[in-house]
Amino acid sequence: MNEHLHHVWSYNDVDRRFWQEHLEDFVPHDIYDAHTHVNSPELRLEQMTDEKRRQYWVNEVLEPISADDADRCHRIVYPGRKFSCLAMGMPDLSYDIKGGNEDLRLGCERYGWDALAVISPHWSRQEVLAAIDHPRVIGVKPYYAMIGQDPTSRDKYLEADIFDFLPHHQLEVLNARGSWVTLHVPKSARLGHASNISQIRRIREQYPDITLVIAHLGRSYTLPHAQESLPLLAEDEGLYFDNSAVLNPQVHRYALELLGPRRICWGTDNPIFYMRGRRTWSGRTYINLTSHPFHFNTNRQSPGIEATYTLYVYEAIRAIRQACEELGLSRDDVKNIFGGNARRWIAAIRARHIA
Ligand SMILES: [Zn+2]
Repeated sequence: MNEHLHHVWSYNDVDRRFWQEHLEDFVPHDIYDAHTHVNSPELRLEQMTDEKRRQYWVNEVLEPISADDADRCHRIVYPGRKFSCLAMGMPDLSYDIKGGNEDLRLGCERYGWDALAVISPHWSRQEVLAAIDHPRVIGVKPYYAMIGQDPTSRDKYLEADIFDFLPHHQLEVLNARGSWVTLHVPKSARLGHASNISQIRRIREQYPDITLVIAHLGRSYTLPHAQESLPLLAEDEGLYFDNSAVLNPQVHRYALELLGPRRICWGTDNPIFYMRGRRTWSGRTYINLTSHPFHFNTNRQSPGIEATYTLYVYEAIRAIRQACEELGLSRDDVKNIFGGNARRWIAAIRARHIA
């Protein structure tokens, strides 16, 4: 039986079997997704064009999901689990950013989730304060694409520095408030780029009350990217990471072994990870395999193989499971990764706030 999930994806018997076989006895009862995008489709100001879909695979799979739809998907994908999340809107100038933040606050009130406000580097202190001044908002999501818009390239500002899209006057406000910052690092060299490493160190020194969470393990989707960057930041026990959008079991294992199970929190990067398929790796590159005829999907497998594909989110959890088992992590470690850590960091933020 197929149940519609989101965009072109649905939930089928392959997924039900995969959950029973690989995930049911592993996923803790109480889970918390610390990196998920929720944005009402009506707040998209400019529709996606075919030209943009052909530029970048994420443009083809990232259709906005409303809070009500996200809640419906959570119930399908995590059967019998108590679920909550840290939700953020789309950090993309083709959306109504302030409207999206406000709409997300309402969704988070409705479902008991926490929120990050998407911010623009051009905002004043007052505008940042207004975006985070709400009991459900614990911090912000800056992004280099918020610097400016270019319809011909999603990555016009990929080589920006962190401080270009997260300027000091905003860091001061966020430090004073003790906010959470989910940081998607720039640069095609990813986390290991010298300016990323030095600017992250500087944020940690100069703004120590920010709960800094590096997204996607620093965009370490392949093992070489993890190996050349994570050791440079491993000593700082107060620097955290989310493992969203990482499918590679070797990367999960490497990060968990190096950083320990109390500095990494689970995230999905949904709705992207409702995608069906697998990822393969070769050196510093990866290929997304999927059964849907997207423009980017030039590596089709036989119908028999594609029929066995499950959701990326399930493949990611299985990869984390493999890493945890290889490292001999405890049940408590698993519970911390899948929610305990994020909840602990958020509780500390809220406690400081009230004080
Ligand atoms: Zn994301």
